[in-house]
Amino acid sequence: MGVTKDRSVLIDGSQGEGGGQILRTSLALALCTQRPLVVREVRARRSRPGLLRQHLTALRAAATISKARIEGDRLGSSEVRVHPGPVRHGDHRFAVGSAGSAILVFQTVLWPLLCAPGRSRLRFEGGTHNPLAPPFDFLERAFLPVIRGMGAQIEARLVRHGFYPAGGGAFEVELEGGHRLRPLTLTERGELRQLRARALVAGLHEEIGERELLEVEDRLGDGVALGERRIEVVESAGPGNAVLIEVESAAITEVFASFGEIGRAAEAVGRAAIDEAREYLHAGVPVGRHLADQLLIPMALAGESTVTTLRPTDHTITNAAVIGAFLPAAPTVTRGPSTLATLRTGAAG
Ligand code: AMP
Repeated sequence: MGVTKDRSVLIDGSQGEGGGQILRTSLALALCTQRPLVVREVRARRSRPGLLRQHLTALRAAATISKARIEGDRLGSSEVRVHPGPVRHGDHRFAVGSAGSAILVFQTVLWPLLCAPGRSRLRFEGGTHNPLAPPFDFLERAFLPVIRGMGAQIEARLVRHGFYPAGGGAFEVELEGGHRLRPLTLTERGELRQLRARALVAGLHEEIGERELLEVEDRLGDGVALGERRIEVVESAGPGNAVLIEVESAAITEVFASFGEIGRAAEAVGRAAIDEAREYLHAGVPVGRHLADQLLIPMALAGESTVTTLRPTDHTITNAAVIGAFLPAAPTVTRGPSTLATLRTGAAG
């Protein structure tokens, strides 16, 4: 990381976890700070490196909202350059054009549009329930409530589920930018209020969802009961299946997801979701692994923020480093006793 001769921020896309988040965070913060950007070795540590449709859509979406000049905007590209102009609110539709995660495209334009004054109405099309990306339910019930608690005015509505590999999902977002985010302190979870489990089933037998939820209940452990248990049969362009476990506590709701795929037993899908939820429950922290890496940008924009979480992932450590290339309130990651960690940001610039 560094600065090029023309004062662009230079980001190494092969650092740390070496995936798409490095590009998305860089795009968001280049727009927020109005700094030109060069990202080299884009997604170098992934099995199919370079820009996939999701990343290309995110790059073009960032260009659309800031009238940026961009270079390297083609599939497979390993280097991109962005010269952003001022970010403008507006009405936009961003379509991935494959089952790539539309949620991750949203998370790229979210921060610049929250920084810029005015109301935006956005529609995102593509995958809404993808493995290795936040599902819409996580966005709606875990991520957005925390961001709203920081003062963001934002609403999101799922229009249609989109599962891998058919995609075809859509959601709409309305947000009002121009209000500075307030610092976030999330160091206590508070009492457990309810545990809910849902199995989404699209174009598949409901019995799959039943087996998944039985597995979830089997592994819950003594003294813990589900407050809600539901199989939701949903419409989608192609078949799909997900298990979603919501842990509602006094201070925060967390969502843990696992996805069905061909050759993976329903029991294994249920087990993966409940095991992640149980690890979180036992750790006693408010913020789970995925939410942790996704809260770093707003924490750095707001400054003076602290959250406690599980042992930091490569995504969290890498995202903190990338944010530090743009913002003075770079997040620090302090490992605590056993498997816990504290994420902090200093004063915002
Ligand atoms: P990348 O692999 O670099 O494209 O980044 C993937 C992003 O998706 C990271 O912010 C992850 O935390 C997030 N993510 C992956 N799986 C989940 C999940 N099950 N729930 C919520 N967020 C997720």
